[in-house]
Amino acid sequence: MAEKMDMEEGKASNGEAHLDEPLANGMNGPRKGNQEPAGQRLKRIVMANLLVILTVAGVIIGVFIGLGVRNVALTRTQIIYIGFPGELLIRLLKMIIIPLVVCSLVSGAASLDPKALGKLGGWAMLFFLVTTLIASSIGVVMAFIINPGSVTTKPKVSGLDDSVPASKEVIDSFLDLIRNIFPSNLVSAAFQSYATSYKLVTTNGTNGLPNITVEKVPIGTDQDGMNILGLVVFAIVFGVALRKLGEEGEILIKFFNSFNEATMVLVSWIMWYAPLGIMFLVAGKIVEMDDVGTLFASLGKYIACCILGHAIHGLLVLPGIYFIITRKNPYTFLWGIFTALATAFGTSSSSATLPLMMKCVEENNGVSKHISRFILPIGATVNMDGAALFQCVAAVFIAQLNNYPLNFIQVITILVTATASSVGAAGIPAGGVLTLAIILEAVGLPTNDISLILAVDWLVDRTCTILNVEGDAFGAGLLQHFVDRTSKREEGVELSEVRLDGDSLAPAPEHSPLIEKRGGRDSAEAAKKAGEKELVM
Ligand code: ASP
Repeated sequence: MAEKMDMEEGKASNGEAHLDEPLANGMNGPRKGNQEPAGQRLKRIVMANLLVILTVAGVIIGVFIGLGVRNVALTRTQIIYIGFPGELLIRLLKMIIIPLVVCSLVSGAASLDPKALGKLGGWAMLFFLVTTLIASSIGVVMAFIINPGSVTTKPKVSGLDDSVPASKEVIDSFLDLIRNIFPSNLVSAAFQSYATSYKLVTTNGTNGLPNITVEKVPIGTDQDGMNILGLVVFAIVFGVALRKLGEEGEILIKFFNSFNEATMVLVSWIMWYAPLGIMFLVAGKIVEMDDVGTLFASLGKYIACCILGHAIHGLLVLPGIYFIITRKNPYTFLWGIFTALATAFGTSSSSATLPLMMKCVEENNGVSKHISRFILPIGATVNMDGAALFQCVAAVFIAQLNNYPLNFIQVITILVTATASSVGAAGIPAGGVLTLAIILEAVGLPTNDISLILAVDWLVDRTCTILNVEGDAFGAGLLQHFVDRTSKREEGVELSEVRLDGDSLAPAPEHSPLIEKRGGRDSAEAAKKAGEKELVM
């Protein structure tokens, strides 16, 4: 069984999607000659794409249920009950995040040669940085073209002022980011992160002088919310350390591998619940929505600007980059991750989408486990094209609302801080709004206008999250292409394959089989036979 799965993965790692899986490939023509009857072919295509079809159906039915139930006067309690199946999906996905992120990164980092790890990580970071900067630029350009803040009266929203995050000095925001990279307690990092707040300290004049100074002193507080950045960094470093241990580290590496595999089995079960969960998430949101007309009338241009920007980046720019580099159809790639994109739309959370995204890129888009399980958790934590784009639109929008002209330096400041603050944004609903304050502070804009952004974030955040996770998936696809190309070019010397399964332990090599190098065609073939692969420089 394991061998069969690995063989399949070997096929997938060539960058080819499984022939009978995604619809786009199903459309390439029948596999078994031209004699396949149309009915049978249709059945095969439907079966191969069942999950995606169910997900699309879930979204559509959810919209209809929502619109239908909206006309019935429901109490708040009843609305909560309607959203229950959707809430269950979010709970299931959240439950799986910590084991998934930690185990996949530990086993991913331990299975890669440090040089390969550095190279892959470096390419991924470059891709993430460049695409986030492009997304930020699109946001700024769109905001200047559409001019969403050119309204005669400033829109008003009620009841959201309390949710506006407390303003923080820019330097403290960046120091918090660094502090969170190094959590002081791993257990509490699973549910708390560090955030600076301030205390006013009064100092009496010294040496008998009457001067009294009041100083705003930063104090550290632990806030609810997983410190996923800290967990990601720890898991990678721990994986590298395990690999360094050689034979002594093998047991633990195998433990994390098995844990990871078992978690992925759970994910494949949760996936079949996703269409139902998404249906009720969408329905619940539509039922719960306040007066959408008024919101659209006052903030419609801002919403349009963000969604249009997300569409340009997600449907043209990212697919364009993928096509230019790989010469493969980017829309086939997008079709392969459709279920994950719908989950991002339904949950508004990159972290919650991570498990399904891993499954989709591995099974439909031919990305190998080593790449997806290493890159996707990092991407879900630090790469947020959608967040950077909407933060830029929001910053320019708030400047326009306050008749605050932005000069060139301030525009560049917005671009750079949006790119940086998107790294610090958590992959949770409204994660980006929380770090928007950094950009506003950096250019001297009022942070209480964030309440306007919050009022429509339930909608903008959905397309934003789709874009956030899409960027990670394309990053994984490009890395797979890079690895395939390198291994072809180097004929298995640069990136060869090493066994990591039970067999590899049997003949007891001199040192750890996990770090054994295999050069040349023979060893690559042996590794292919063995199934599980490892990238080694
Ligand atoms: N909700 C987004 C995500 O999870 C973060 C954001 O608000 O931008 O990716």
